[in-house]
Amino acid sequence: MYAKSNPSDARANNRRLLFRLLFPDRQLSRADLCKETGLSRATATDVTGEMIDDGLLRELGSGRRDGRGKPGTLLAIDADVLRLVCVDLSRPYVMTGAVMDLRARIVERRERVLDDGDRVDLDDVLSLVGQMIRLAGSGLVGIGVAVPGVVSGAGRVISSSNLGWDDVELRDMLEGEFSLPVRVDNDANAALLADRFLGHGNPNCLLVQITRGIGASVLLNDEFVEGDDHAAGEIGHVVIDPAGPACTCGKRGCLETYVSAIALRDRIRRNPERRADILAEAGARLGSALAMPASLLNLHDIAVYGPPDIVGETLLGACGETVNSLSRNDYQSNIRVRRCELGDDATLRGQAVSVLREIVGRRGLSAAAASS
Ligand SMILES: [Zn+2]
Repeated sequence: MYAKSNPSDARANNRRLLFRLLFPDRQLSRADLCKETGLSRATATDVTGEMIDDGLLRELGSGRRDGRGKPGTLLAIDADVLRLVCVDLSRPYVMTGAVMDLRARIVERRERVLDDGDRVDLDDVLSLVGQMIRLAGSGLVGIGVAVPGVVSGAGRVISSSNLGWDDVELRDMLEGEFSLPVRVDNDANAALLADRFLGHGNPNCLLVQITRGIGASVLLNDEFVEGDDHAAGEIGHVVIDPAGPACTCGKRGCLETYVSAIALRDRIRRNPERRADILAEAGARLGSALAMPASLLNLHDIAVYGPPDIVGETLLGACGETVNSLSRNDYQSNIRVRRCELGDDATLRGQAVSVLREIVGRRGLSAAAASS
């Protein structure tokens, strides 16, 4: 069945389109926006007016003259009025909460050290979100949580072995508690959103996250590949060598036993003089594992996110060389393997992007914020 689009769908789409063009810090006139989107002047004026009233955009005064006509007023995303609260549960031993603006920048941040390694109680999450909401004050329009695990599109955490969670209706629980729109996403998806919309990412990209384990995320035409079980990208426990080391999952030679930050640091600690070899070997293993999905999807862009002591030139160089030598053919051009450069905050900032993608189409945001 095809859903018939109605005028309010079109309006929501136009709001998303205009927000995305200006995100995070472009300044464009209404005429520029029309030129880039093909929207009519009347529609652009109408929709931007509504977005200004909602606190999403603001006017900046006159832009440059292009030789004829009067200079147009520039529009930009308004980072002063509305706020988001995001929480990152993906880092071991610490839970991070942030108040963020509409450019996905961190305004306030708090960290809570976890007593029990990386196990997180739901009450701890609710309490941290509550604390950040109080810090945010007025103008709060959405909440985002990045989770290391398998998350359904409806924000249910199907499984997170790191957090020790199974079947947790996290989005519903947070929406019930705080009466605000909530997005819950896989942490690698959040990092990929940051890379795409705040970094140098492409609409088609594969991101590999090397942290406690290995996670991946695939963006095709700016949409995530979710998979039948919402588990696309869960490549850490795919066996790459059946004769390899024993893995915590019970199998042998999973990708994670070769390439996770924990496994590599352990190996380097035992043989510090072999550091470069260990990292190059890990890069080659990763490149070998990624040659097939990169060719299958004809991707040119692989971003690797992880700590700088592991994800550096040595690992990335070896990964790029291997993925290209294994997949080279007449049809596929060079695959670029690069570091995701957004640092420790990539997950939080990407989670904010996810919330923004969810809410900017909705009308009356600031009114909802004022009443919350
Ligand atoms: Zn395994």
